[in-house]
Amino acid sequence: ADTGLAQIGVTGLAVMGSNIARNFARHGHRVALHNRTVAKTDALLDQHGSEGDFVRTETTEEFVAALEKPRRVLIMVKAGEPTDAVIDELANLMDEGDIIIDGGNSLYTDTIRREAAMSERGLNFVGAGISGGEEGALNGPSIMPGGPAESYTSLGPLLESISAHVDGEPCCTHIGPDGSGHFVKMVHNGIEYADMQLIGEAYDLMRKALDLPVDKIADVFREWNSGDLDSYLVEITAEVLSQVDAETGTPLVDVIADAAGQKGTGRWTVKSALDLGIPTTGIAEAVFARALSSATDQRAQATGLAAGNLASSPADPDTFVDDIRNALYASKVVAYAQGFDQIAAGSQEYDWNVHPGDLATIWRGGCIIRAKFLNRIRDAYAENPELPSLLLAPYFREAVETALDSWRRVVATAATMGIPAPAFASSLAYYDALRSERLPAALTQGLRDFFGAHTYQRIDKPGTFHTLWSDDR
Ligand code: NAP
Repeated sequence: ADTGLAQIGVTGLAVMGSNIARNFARHGHRVALHNRTVAKTDALLDQHGSEGDFVRTETTEEFVAALEKPRRVLIMVKAGEPTDAVIDELANLMDEGDIIIDGGNSLYTDTIRREAAMSERGLNFVGAGISGGEEGALNGPSIMPGGPAESYTSLGPLLESISAHVDGEPCCTHIGPDGSGHFVKMVHNGIEYADMQLIGEAYDLMRKALDLPVDKIADVFREWNSGDLDSYLVEITAEVLSQVDAETGTPLVDVIADAAGQKGTGRWTVKSALDLGIPTTGIAEAVFARALSSATDQRAQATGLAAGNLASSPADPDTFVDDIRNALYASKVVAYAQGFDQIAAGSQEYDWNVHPGDLATIWRGGCIIRAKFLNRIRDAYAENPELPSLLLAPYFREAVETALDSWRRVVATAATMGIPAPAFASSLAYYDALRSERLPAALTQGLRDFFGAHTYQRIDKPGTFHTLWSDDR
């Protein structure tokens, strides 16, 4: 019998919350609507009320009373204190077994804290990473819910119904306990930073090393999007580069200020990588590149710094464009390899048991980093769930080997032509370090023992050693 109650409630009806509420309604779910400012609820109902079965509520009490049990509430408000305030208000009105879902971009450590507090009160708290921006929220995002496994029984089908689907599979799965969903969403965003930085460097090299016009570069990205690099970000790169500014008639990209903003998830990823001791260098370079781009005063004063004798352009532009594509591909493999290493380390640190193959699966659609490439990652982990690095999966090992000469030429050309390509260069350095039999860390250990008696291990016998350096001099 129809109780008149809603299957899900959404509170926080800004752009993301509104679109997710509409997505639920379009999939036949009855949705209770709530927003601190009631005018926003009414605006949503005015514009889209006919799309499905919505229940209008004003107060939090009304909102909670409009839900069937176990109650399921999705919070889509500003991350940080507003989220805490809303959780508190809801928790006071909810009963044992009810589920509170935080779909915002919360820091995973906040989610761990909130989950512990809610579970003490008998409530299920699910921190769910949601990717795909406004468009994804409406038409099918990638959803990364953490929290107690039991809650997924009731919640999973609902979330899966509104998520993107690839080859019939939903881009939504239970990630693991407490903060795991927000942790993997954070690293997802970090990878997104790295992807965008690599795309930016590829574009910059085509402009500065080859002097290609912007519309030609757009064509190159369009062509790349039909091959191995097929992805949302490469696709929209072609679109952004094709945009002409109506006012000036020049490519829009030439009138956009070259200072990149950031809202924090990239920075969080790098901080976490530092804490976990994982060399997530691709993401770090991307975050630092945005920071450098935004140091506009310092940059303005530094434009006169010497460049030295610069090399001239590569002789064969077409070959160099292919080289750039290969360098982009190989650097992207490194960025993902590092991101997956960080997820494995986080999973181990917090005992989450995250399955990397699941992530590759749910990132194939809906989210910003969606790409054909993720099928390869999924295959790699299906073949060997214990893969020590994505770079060691047979497919990627071969792909990077094929790209290697190009990659080296691109990094060398960038250096000799004075074009910054930090993510290309550091990804290559990471690859070369990873495959090195010996690293200069032996010297580092010698130095540490010299000035601090930090001791070292030897390669030829067990034990811990200290050298009496001063006597040897
Ligand atoms: P937003 O600008 O981050 O947040 C606005 C919403 O928060 C409004 O509904 C606002 O209510 C509510 N709010 C703010 N402070 C509040 C408080 N103290 N108490 C109760 N409600 C409060 O909205 P958004 O861009 O739609 O994002 C929502 C969440 O999704 C955020 O955590 C965001 O990081 C995450 N997210 C965003 C995107 C994206 O592409 N935008 C993608 C993925 C995830 P009022 O209307 O009353 O002010």
